[in-house]
Amino acid sequence: MIVNSIEAIPFRIPYTKKKVWARGVLEAAEHVLVRIKTDNDLIGIAEAPPRPTIYGESLQSITAAIENWFGPAIVGMDPWNTEIVLDRFEQWVGNPAAKAAVEMALTDIRAQAAGVPVYKLLGGWTDQVPVCARVPTGTPDEVIASCQKYFEDYGINTYKIKVGMEPNEDIAALENIRKDLGPEARLCPDANQGYDPQTAIRVLKAIEDLDITLLEEPCSIYHRGRQQVAESTIIPIMGDESCTNIIEVRNQLSAGTVGIISIKVARTGFAISQRISHLCEAEGIANLCGTQGDSSIGVVCGAHFAASCRNVKLASELTGHLDTVDDFLIETPKIENGMIKLSDTPGLGIKIDEDKLNYYRI
Ligand SMILES: [Mg+2]
Repeated sequence: MIVNSIEAIPFRIPYTKKKVWARGVLEAAEHVLVRIKTDNDLIGIAEAPPRPTIYGESLQSITAAIENWFGPAIVGMDPWNTEIVLDRFEQWVGNPAAKAAVEMALTDIRAQAAGVPVYKLLGGWTDQVPVCARVPTGTPDEVIASCQKYFEDYGINTYKIKVGMEPNEDIAALENIRKDLGPEARLCPDANQGYDPQTAIRVLKAIEDLDITLLEEPCSIYHRGRQQVAESTIIPIMGDESCTNIIEVRNQLSAGTVGIISIKVARTGFAISQRISHLCEAEGIANLCGTQGDSSIGVVCGAHFAASCRNVKLASELTGHLDTVDDFLIETPKIENGMIKLSDTPGLGIKIDEDKLNYYRI
């Protein structure tokens, strides 16, 4: 089996509600669909979401990188040679989402060739994964209403809540949210580096009795005070922007700045994500799969990775497909009782509605 061709198709599907976080706003999923074809008619699919303010990639740069570099690097190759793929991709620095999407689409092909779903090919730890909802920003009442709706509609009781703008308002909001949602809800505030270390320590002290599951990236990834923040609290600090590749993960682990690490397959694909999770497992640090504002394709990829891997122990952020106004997948992931259950369909099981793709492609 060899790779015959690769396509990079930019598309745009509006979100139902703007995504606001401490560092920016997104109005639509503007991602690149990657589609790889082999000589035995298998088709591998993944998506690359550009995040210029985090990784410096754009819709245009991802498309060009795949068309000019990563595509030609794999045409004629056997999709089973993952190590060679990773080695070739190292010629080009950066471009994490473009590289990850190509590697995930190749994995989709390998799993189809083997006749197994991707999560089994990668490790087969479980066939269902708990889901954390990324709750839209709003007033505390709006956030509470959103959480209740996620619970009523999908049985989700783990909530990622954006904080990091106004510390006193954040503390009051989390108190109200805990009071209204009761003791069963798992609260995962994400500050997106919005506090300085001293403020982070103050906020963490103030919310210590609220049974907070984790606080994500309280302060700048460059601050020396990160270690002090982690040591000041019993609330696990989750690394995300500080842990975007395996070298950064190793550095944060050895600095003792994080208690949980968010793995995003959108930036590290399946192969590097596996290495990161193994490294974390050896250090006793649990993982979850984070969202990069994924559309349904990214959600499918994240769900397969989370299900494959023993060290992905916390509810993963797999609700991105609920945030777009429409979809070009024929079947989108179903969340029931707060879980996504993976099927036995070989590969990722992604089927595209070509008419809809033509409508949403840019
Ligand atoms: Mg984050």
